[in-house]
Amino acid sequence: MSTRNWTLGAVLALALAWGWLPEFTITLLCYIGLYALVAAGLVMLTGVGGMTSFGQAAFVGVGAYATAWVCTSPALAAALGGSIAAAWLPWLGLLLGLVAAAGVAWFLGAITLKLQGHYLPLCTIAWGLSLYFLFGNIELLGGHTGISGLPPLVVAGVSLAAPRALGPVIWATLLLALWALHNLLDSRAGRALRALKGGRLMAESMGVDTARQRVKIFVLAALMAALSGWFYAHLQRFVNPTPFNLNIGIEYLFMAVVGGAGYLWGAVLGAALITLLKSQLQDLLPRLLGSSGNFEVIVFGLLMLLVVHRFADGLWPTLARLTARWRPAPAASGRASAASVPALSLARSALPPAGQVLLQAEEVSKRFGGLVANNAVSMDVRAGEVHALIGPNGAGKSTFFNMISGVDDPSAGTVRLMGQAMTGRPSREFAALGLGRTFQHVRLLGQRSVLDNVALGAHRRGKSGWLASMLRLDRAEEAALLDEARRQIERCQLGALADLPAASLSLGQQRAIEIARALAGQPAVLLLDEPAAGLRHLEKVALAQLLAQLRAEGLAILVVEHDMEFVMNLADRVTVLEFGTVIAHGTPAQVQADPRVLDAYLGGIDEPLLTQAAA
Ligand code: ADP
Ligand code: MG
Repeated sequence: MSTRNWTLGAVLALALAWGWLPEFTITLLCYIGLYALVAAGLVMLTGVGGMTSFGQAAFVGVGAYATAWVCTSPALAAALGGSIAAAWLPWLGLLLGLVAAAGVAWFLGAITLKLQGHYLPLCTIAWGLSLYFLFGNIELLGGHTGISGLPPLVVAGVSLAAPRALGPVIWATLLLALWALHNLLDSRAGRALRALKGGRLMAESMGVDTARQRVKIFVLAALMAALSGWFYAHLQRFVNPTPFNLNIGIEYLFMAVVGGAGYLWGAVLGAALITLLKSQLQDLLPRLLGSSGNFEVIVFGLLMLLVVHRFADGLWPTLARLTARWRPAPAASGRASAASVPALSLARSALPPAGQVLLQAEEVSKRFGGLVANNAVSMDVRAGEVHALIGPNGAGKSTFFNMISGVDDPSAGTVRLMGQAMTGRPSREFAALGLGRTFQHVRLLGQRSVLDNVALGAHRRGKSGWLASMLRLDRAEEAALLDEARRQIERCQLGALADLPAASLSLGQQRAIEIARALAGQPAVLLLDEPAAGLRHLEKVALAQLLAQLRAEGLAILVVEHDMEFVMNLADRVTVLEFGTVIAHGTPAQVQADPRVLDAYLGGIDEPLLTQAAA
């Protein structure tokens, strides 16, 4: 039975049993559904996007208080003057809650997400704390007593006052949300989100606007929390500040982490576990210990330690492993979902004619304080050639690489790509103009398949947004992107490995994945930072063949490399850096004959390495 059939089976069983389950169980199930909605948002934020929020309970509070106020405020009722029927007020409350939560999340996101590190978690703690006190001190919102007398939800004339009536709506909403999020993750937009974990630099180089993605995912998580709060308010029929304080915000985080922050179903598992455990412990512990108090918090803390220590990815993957024999092996990544739709054809732009200058550095200098890492370096890369940049360690090669790929700005001088001055532009604009690159230290999403990693490289060539992905309207484009990725994987001779996790491959193969990923973006200029480092002899031969073929197709290739034999056999032109300054430039033969190069590069070594390489 597939996972989908298991899910359908479980839903069916629950639906059939619903009428017979005791009231207490029904109420518990309602709460599990509500908490899972919040935790699923956290899975997206934490497990997928790599960010942490302690403030989700406050967003739940925004959703709950918005509808509570709209449904009970005499002032609002007077202002509306009966223009909206009472049955519609909860929907107005929902709208207000979602708008308010999105607004706050967008604001917090915009001020913190560009900063790296701990700013966002700290900011969410401050937000979680301050909202709790705000709720408690605003008279309009009932202070610490809260607001009571909320009306039940009424849908199509049916009152959803009882948990037995509201529960199915909560769970249907949860399942729908999980389905939409699952679709989102299994798409171009999802790859861009996952890329956030690969670091800003990598993601931006693939054309992903990381700041925007981070704000969007934060807003999404806040919206899910506010939706949960709306249901919560109409289930309880009253609100007070307690369920929205920082403690509860931490509990939501518990749920996501214990269940498995990388898995959507982990949110449901975590919500169920923590809720059941809490309801048991709240009875049991005070009886055991003979005094009352929130002792369950201590048990949660210990549980968290245990999970982080023994099940670093949460309990869901362990559960999935244990039940694997009752389920068929999952279909190979990407194939199952996108294969049935005919692929669109991706736009292809013709490469510029051979010999045309595509990338040009004019007198580029870079100073770090007093250190001149690059001193008026000028060079260009032309269509249909391999240009090698060499130089001893610390010569300034990586610094230069960063400047011509938009990672860093020069202190002086200009970088031109496709004729455009690029000063001050981020690396994703370099990518948009046709620059593809690899990294000296391989930057792949190790847990994701080779196919998935390479498809990220084609990000710019697709258009589908979040909504289209959630609703599965992106399948034709997705099939095209995956086809393109598979084509580049074949080209780099990784065909047999496409469905393996990238981390399981050798370093040489991982470097090849990076090249395939760069090629999936259909670049005109390819920058490779030490592509031969750590490769075995045969892998180097294969790499040289691939680069020669790409050159023949018209790509402009710049290689920063240590391996002399590799460079001298492959390159059309060589530029030599020493102490940030160009000391020689020309064909491999000219450069090898240059006494300054021999001096700088081989300094003190008697053996004529270069002559050997040229042979
Ligand atoms: P290469 O890649 O040729 O080995 P780099 O470009 O990494 O050389 O470094 C050139 C010089 O610039 C080195 O002396 C290095 O210490 C210095 N350098 C590089 N990056 C920075 C930085 N961010 N801050 C200060 N100094 C740096
Ligand atoms: Mg370097």
